[in-house]
Amino acid sequence: QGKKDGRGNYRVFKSAMDVELKARAQLESELRAAIMNGEIEPFYQPVVSLPERTLIGVEVLARWRHPTRGLLAPARFITIAEETGLIADLSYRLLRQACRDARDWPVHLQIALNISPQQFQDAGLSERILAILNETGLAPNRLEVEITETALVQDLEAARTTLTSLQNLGVRIALDDFGTGYSSLYHLRELKFDKLKIDRSYVDTITMSDERAKLVDAIIKLSASLGLVTTAEGIETDASLDWLSTQGCDFGQGYLFGAPMPKSEIDTLVSIDPAVIKARLAA
Ligand code: C2E
Ligand code: MG
Ligand code: MG
Ligand code: MG
Repeated sequence: QGKKDGRGNYRVFKSAMDVELKARAQLESELRAAIMNGEIEPFYQPVVSLPERTLIGVEVLARWRHPTRGLLAPARFITIAEETGLIADLSYRLLRQACRDARDWPVHLQIALNISPQQFQDAGLSERILAILNETGLAPNRLEVEITETALVQDLEAARTTLTSLQNLGVRIALDDFGTGYSSLYHLRELKFDKLKIDRSYVDTITMSDERAKLVDAIIKLSASLGLVTTAEGIETDASLDWLSTQGCDFGQGYLFGAPMPKSEIDTLVSIDPAVIKARLAA
């Protein structure tokens, strides 16, 4: 044993791969169980009307409350869920929980759910969503579905069908992370969205340079001229907030207003006086 040649190195490499494959297989089976056991929990991030500085809804963001590893962010498990086909189950359970949670909130508050690309290729998506809305009693016009352009590149016709059938139910469609895809204008031309969400990477930089700011301004104007409303993601500073409000951006989200939080904290936020919320959200 312990051959100091290429074969030895190969063996080391192979066993490292085995370890990784095993870790992955374990994570997959843990995730499968976690979904069944309800360890995937919806967190909610406030979405604010910029002219009014009032709470208009929340974005649902998945968290895994892992029994030993603590609270895990989506970056740790969404890709695995997508690759193993667990994402649909995860997503439907998350939606069901969010719809139930929303019963405790004023009816004008909207909920926005992220949907993965492969779910958008599934002809049964809108039917499954409708079934959950019916079961939980959430009005379809309180739901918004967020998709990224990756959802549209595989099969544009399938995506168009899904998009239209969701909109026919009264569900709105937001194009998420706008500006990070390869062919943004193409999809804006080919499909009718309701909302455009400007990616955080643009919002981050508006107060840093004139060119950056001009680009964001142009996106806001483009979106409005196509009849869409616009949300800016990742608002962290008052300077960005003021600038975006002045440029006519409709909605905003970001740590300035609140990070994604568990239901108990959103409950507190919505139970206080709207005027107080306004002051808080603008603070
Ligand atoms: P996203 O849909 O673009 O969500 C926005 C992300 O930006 C969230 O990260 C949120 O916590 C973060 N964020 C919000 N405001 C700020 C800010 O002011 N500063 C900074 N630095 N970050 C901010 P999160 O929760 O880690 O989610 C990451 C991504 O994971 C989401 O991006 C979405 O693509 C995906 N994701 C989350 N939940 C789900 C889900 O249920 N299904 C699917 N398919 N994807 C999900
Ligand atoms: Mg999103
Ligand atoms: Mg986004
Ligand atoms: Mg994003």
